[in-house]
Amino acid sequence: MKKSNRTPKRRCVGCGKSFDQNELLRVRKGADGSVSVAKDGNMTGRSAYICKNENCLEAARKKRGFDRSFRGAVSSEIYDTIREELLSI
Ligand SMILES: [Zn+2]
Repeated sequence: MKKSNRTPKRRCVGCGKSFDQNELLRVRKGADGSVSVAKDGNMTGRSAYICKNENCLEAARKKRGFDRSFRGAVSSEIYDTIREELLSI
C-alpha cells in the first residue's frame, strides 16, 4: 500500500517555488505585529516561508516578499535578522 505524502508544501517568498515545509525556514508575524524567525512550534499569527539560503533572502528583499505575505511593511532590519538566522543554520 502506497503511503501518501502528508508533508505540507509551502512556497518560498524568495524564489516562489514550493518545497516541503520542513525544508524551509518559517517566519512568523505575531499578533503584536512583530516579525521573527519562528523556531518554536507556535503556529499562531501569520506565517511565511523561505529557503534556507541567502539567495532567496535577497530575492525576497528585492521583491519585498515578506511584506506581501504579511500584508504590511517589513523593515530591512527584519530582513537582516532573517538573513543572519539563515546563515547560522
Ligand atoms: Zn527559495
